[in-house]
Amino acid sequence: MSFVTCLKCMDCSPACEYEKQALYVCDDCFGPLEPNYDYDNIKKNLTIEKISLRQKNMWRYKELLPIDNEPSVGLNTGFTPLIKADNLAKVLGVKNLYIKNDGVNFPSLSFKDRVVAVALSKAKELGYDTVGCASTGNLANSVAAHSASANLNSFIFIPSNLEEAKIMATSIYGKNVVAVHGNYDEVNRLCTEVLGSKKWGFVNINLRTYYAEGSKTVGYEIIEQLGWKAPKNIVCCMASGSLLTKIYKSVQEFVNLGFVEDVGTKIYGAQASGCSPISTAIKNDWETFKPVKPDTIAKSLAIGNPADGLNAINLMRGINSYSEEVTDEEIVEAMKLLAETEGIFTETAGGVTLGCAKKMIENGQISRDEDLVLIITGNGLKTQDPLVGNIKSPYTINPKLEDFDNIQY
Ligand SMILES: *Cc1c(COP(=O)(O)O)cnc(C)c1O
Ligand SMILES: [Zn+2]
Repeated sequence: MSFVTCLKCMDCSPACEYEKQALYVCDDCFGPLEPNYDYDNIKKNLTIEKISLRQKNMWRYKELLPIDNEPSVGLNTGFTPLIKADNLAKVLGVKNLYIKNDGVNFPSLSFKDRVVAVALSKAKELGYDTVGCASTGNLANSVAAHSASANLNSFIFIPSNLEEAKIMATSIYGKNVVAVHGNYDEVNRLCTEVLGSKKWGFVNINLRTYYAEGSKTVGYEIIEQLGWKAPKNIVCCMASGSLLTKIYKSVQEFVNLGFVEDVGTKIYGAQASGCSPISTAIKNDWETFKPVKPDTIAKSLAIGNPADGLNAINLMRGINSYSEEVTDEEIVEAMKLLAETEGIFTETAGGVTLGCAKKMIENGQISRDEDLVLIITGNGLKTQDPLVGNIKSPYTINPKLEDFDNIQY
């Protein structure tokens, strides 16, 4: 059933073509590879009606995902809620606001469940029995959970200073978790070296070409949930920059397949000030980004040398959008604002998305009159440390009515 004909280099022109395998950079220019889809054939085989009749998970768009056989991992992943956020819209002063809440994704409560579902389905097709990743936290949770149910061995590499909850939510699955004294960029380099001598499938390294495509399902779902309409504006937080570029790609694909009208969708970036190589490049009009040493509470976004940073910069510049950054204090404020207005407890990354969206609305980069979708990528139960001392404590009393009556609320 595959509609992928080959892999092609994104940077060479004319595009080099490669057979479908665990290959992620071009032999000629080291540029990233992407699956090449036969869109004419997809157009003949896939219709809105066909999609609508399928089960509500990310695989309802399987023709646009890079697997050759039926999916085997993550059959309950995706189709997370798109929430009309009227209370928050009022506070921000925008007309139509939506929250795409991947903080309740299955199985591990972040958008990473999508990319790992694709990568591990592909890993099984390619015959790997051991998989792994270099992670800022959520990817570790997801690879551990998905590899457990998929009966795959896994090696999961994380920076040793991750949030306690994220380490716990990885270790519970009984896989091999390796905590490295170093930041994500150092962990990632180590994993590349490990792969030199092991025949393993690392989801965000040698399987990255396939893995990254899973992010497109966020965009497909938003369009379907809006009643087969593309939104005008989207704000998305960035680590490597992959999610942002793939959501944009998903909109283009649905437009080109004739599923939706082209409304000139724009996507805007969001980063934490303590790790904002992409936003800094956009704000200063630099041609490319300068790698940084991360120092932020938004640990899931702490990639100082982003693999898709240049793609993200070129994309945002090409569509004349923008990218912002917020301080740690602003992140916590935004986490509280989302919880208090919409009842959604997001992790620090979601605070980055909302905090940056608020700034770009206030500064006039994002119109108050056009549809706006915020991508909330992770769950607040995993990053509680920054909230300690920053939120209202409970009233603590003895079990006496008198004590209750004495509360000044
Ligand atoms: C990984 C991650 C991101 C960003 O992903 P990239 O595709 O690397 O930009 C955003 N939010 C959360 C919660 C994440 O874990
Ligand atoms: Zn190339």
